[in-house]
Amino acid sequence: MNSTTTRADVVSTISKRSSAVADPVNFADEAVSDLFGCNTFNRATMEKTLSAETYAKLLGTIEDGTKLDASVADEVADAMRAWAMEKGATHFTHVFYPLTGYTAEKHDSFYDPGTDGATAISKFKGKTLIQGEPDASSFPSGGLRQTHEARGYTAWDVTSTAYIMENPCGTTLCIPTSFVSWKGEALDKKTPVLKSMAAIDKQARRILEIFGHEKISKVSASAGPEQEYFLVDKGFYLSRPDLLSAGRTLVGAKPPKGQEFDDHYFGVIPDRVMSFMYDLDRELFKLGIPSKTRHNEVAPGQFEIAPVFESANQATDHQQLVMTVMKKVADKYGFACLLHEKPFAGLNGSGKHVNWSLGNSTQGNLLDPGETPHENAQFLVFAGAVIRAVSKFAPLLRAVVASAGNDHRLGANEAPPAIISVYLGDQLADVFEQIKNGGATMSKPGGVMNIGVDSLPELPKDAGDRNRTSPFAFTGNRFEFRAVGSNQSIAGPLVALNTIVCESLDYVAGRLEGAPDLNAAIQEVLQEIMTEHGAVIFNGNGYSEEWHAEAAERGLPNLKTSPDALPEIVSDEVVEIFEKYHVLSKSELESRLEVYSEQYCAHVNVEANLATEMGRTMIFPAAVRYLNELALTGAHLKAISKEFPTAVIDKVSGLVSELETALDELESAHSGATEEPEYSATRILPAMLKVREASDKLEAIIPDDLWPLPTYQEMLFIK
Ligand code: ADP
Ligand code: MG
Repeated sequence: MNSTTTRADVVSTISKRSSAVADPVNFADEAVSDLFGCNTFNRATMEKTLSAETYAKLLGTIEDGTKLDASVADEVADAMRAWAMEKGATHFTHVFYPLTGYTAEKHDSFYDPGTDGATAISKFKGKTLIQGEPDASSFPSGGLRQTHEARGYTAWDVTSTAYIMENPCGTTLCIPTSFVSWKGEALDKKTPVLKSMAAIDKQARRILEIFGHEKISKVSASAGPEQEYFLVDKGFYLSRPDLLSAGRTLVGAKPPKGQEFDDHYFGVIPDRVMSFMYDLDRELFKLGIPSKTRHNEVAPGQFEIAPVFESANQATDHQQLVMTVMKKVADKYGFACLLHEKPFAGLNGSGKHVNWSLGNSTQGNLLDPGETPHENAQFLVFAGAVIRAVSKFAPLLRAVVASAGNDHRLGANEAPPAIISVYLGDQLADVFEQIKNGGATMSKPGGVMNIGVDSLPELPKDAGDRNRTSPFAFTGNRFEFRAVGSNQSIAGPLVALNTIVCESLDYVAGRLEGAPDLNAAIQEVLQEIMTEHGAVIFNGNGYSEEWHAEAAERGLPNLKTSPDALPEIVSDEVVEIFEKYHVLSKSELESRLEVYSEQYCAHVNVEANLATEMGRTMIFPAAVRYLNELALTGAHLKAISKEFPTAVIDKVSGLVSELETALDELESAHSGATEEPEYSATRILPAMLKVREASDKLEAIIPDDLWPLPTYQEMLFIK
């Protein structure tokens, strides 16, 4: 079958599809309340299946961070196995999160052969629950593991719920774990999340003590990640080598209609997509993931899902699971779910907005300003600490969202720029301005909004507007880190946030503890923060050209590409605080720089291979076929003395030469220092763009039936 048949086939299959429902969901029969968490070893299940004493011990670790009592492991393992087997599980796996950003699992069966050789005995001991040794030595460790000391261990994370993954042929018990080397160094993304949470808890409690609270429970960083994604018909996806292997289109002319009408944004959700969303919600509910919001996004074919926030560690594991489940469920509906940051040039890309806050059960959300923030000194101290942290460690925040994919999105006029600034909104910016000028005496009120139609209610007006262009925005009771990549694990950004805010809280606590006049000391430290770090606050349009100039004047760093940003992971200031708060050691940070740099280059290199292959084996031949047709027609016409517009031949052959030259240049660039991020960014990526330019011009002129790839129009608009 040639490729044009594939395109036609896909279109005809889709147009004949009578029903979009693969697995009907009826929430009238399946009550969400019964469904929610049914595949998780959650607290209710623990309470039911464990002795009161063991349950209390586990709860102590989960809620207050007390050290896990290993003596309970056997009982928990037994209960977990019995519960999982009742649900049909035959295998278990320690799920872990290597530095690749993906999720890793190695399955073991519960069964061992009996002594008679004819029976299988199910066994799952406490030791197996607590610790595993998956080897997994092929994961990049950035030099932390040498081949001669290659042991890697997984360790049960009690604070993240174990769950069951269903497959049409069976189910597996999944146990979230940390992954460390024989020397105890973190080989994964989870370990530093847990350490950074412990660190920030300690410093946040110091502040709460300063404010005289008597009962203070564990302070937890919380995260609510919003995920943007594209859905593309699987048929199209499979006939595009670039989507299949790089997750984004490396060539592709703009469709006649793009996103200019904003007719997709928040539009009515197409049926097939809606079926996907219902099914996705059902699967997420079963896993105890509180999926909440769903809607169309700006680009055609683009959507968003946002669960309710959870503790940062649980939210990180759940986010990984959301990405996995999205891909699985999409497949059921004949879609491919694209999580790349920029699958389609010229259209909005996808990001993840990571909403972040601090809170506990005794004092609530510590970033809730209340109605009159100027009177809420405790809130101002926490917010001030965040402002200081973001200003001091802006380069780190830029570095933790650096990736080959995100480079195509950050700084384009659709996503936050590479300049890290903080948006506070009218009310809060004004309060901090007053503090800077000597003291805050009032908070601008939000008030009510009268729409001017009697039948419509009056609306309470928020005290601050929204700013979609800020990379780090205060949104009422939390900060929203909007520069995170769509494909990325949110662990890195959360570790960075927790650690830098921890350092700030430590600093502020040091200034306030023992102060004879607490109010005066607070005013003094916040005023100083505003004087030294106020430049990071920016409430204007982050997409504008003027902002780039102004930010430079303010001295804010602008690290445009990943190769510019990544080295910030090991800057002296970063190493100092990560070591001080025991989040990551210098060598652990260095290993991350090495792995992320390698990954950056690997992505660019795979893309260069793909662009070359597609150029040579798909686009060039299509152009030559067309040239041949034109030449034949020209010859026929000449034979009967008719005119033929030879300019067309010249045009096509000119473009063929342009493509050929671009491919040669790409191949030559690709034979250079491909393992250097800087080289990849400045030599290979521009050479790939040239191939794209020539190809996109050819796409505009080559007959549709000769064009070998699904077009943007087909991929984006056929749902
Ligand atoms: P929007 O698109 O307006 O930003 P969404 O409803 O799509 O809002 O997403 C907001 C996200 O912020 C949700 O995941 C929500 O649970 C989360 N969130 C709300 N409060 C907090 C908080 N205190 N800490 C962390 N995340 C929060
Ligand atoms: Mg948001």
